[in-house]
Amino acid sequence: KDFRNNIKPNWCPGCGDFSVQAAIQRAAANVGLEPENLAVVSGIGCSGRISGYINSYGFHGIHGRSLPIAQGVKMANRDLTVIASGGDGDGFAIGMGHTVHAIRRNIDVTYIVMDNQIYGLTKGQTSPRSEMGFKTKSTPTGSIESAIGIMELAISAGAGFVAQSFSSDLKELTSIIEQGINHKGFSFINVFSPCVTFNKVNTYEWFKENIVKLDSIEGYDPTSRAQAVNTLMEHNGLVTGLIYQNKERPSYEQLVHGFKETPLVNQDITLEKDTFDQLLTEFM
Ligand code: SF4
Repeated sequence: KDFRNNIKPNWCPGCGDFSVQAAIQRAAANVGLEPENLAVVSGIGCSGRISGYINSYGFHGIHGRSLPIAQGVKMANRDLTVIASGGDGDGFAIGMGHTVHAIRRNIDVTYIVMDNQIYGLTKGQTSPRSEMGFKTKSTPTGSIESAIGIMELAISAGAGFVAQSFSSDLKELTSIIEQGINHKGFSFINVFSPCVTFNKVNTYEWFKENIVKLDSIEGYDPTSRAQAVNTLMEHNGLVTGLIYQNKERPSYEQLVHGFKETPLVNQDITLEKDTFDQLLTEFM
């Protein structure tokens, strides 16, 4: 079960995305997958390269569109474990519509966002996760927009699994990804993954000083939606661990009527001429 391949990542030394790659590889092995059971779909951005660095099926998609592709893969072959991945710009700007609707649709896909609060690939512009006042080339006097509280938004959109972790905490991150893969339904995992080259504010040190681990909050109950939202708001979203999980909500696949036992990719879709003619008649 080796999810490593021989491609050397071209991320900057110290980039948080290395840990996310390692955590996915470890989590996939820990839950007993084989490389041929896993598909990793990514969007565009530095983090989007991750699909090429894991020994599994991989699809490097288009900007903000990892989720439509990942959901299509899962619907066509629900025997696969499907991970969608990308950055905060990819998922929460151009891809935000897909993110919200994938959450409420609840197809069994694990979505991992490498959140560095900046656009790295295009050399450092303000992203939807940059705090107000954040200075970059695109906001030289400081951003005048507020950052998206993405975890609260995911919960209000109906997510059944919401978790957050930090690249510096490989043990927790691996465990969270394992839990996300094992959850039946859409799993939303946001990872603080510092961009060491362009983000000089939200650094590893900054996160270490500001993150509150949910394990340290006595009596925290991840089945309580209200407590999840209140805790996020109290700590400005800077908490890590399993934030909310609803194991009772059925996944999209479980609710689709007439879903055949055999996944689409394994069905014989060869059309006999009579069937084809009949279909043509029906559509004319
Ligand atoms: Fe990572 Fe930033 Fe370098 Fe991109 S620019 S590889 S996000 S450190």
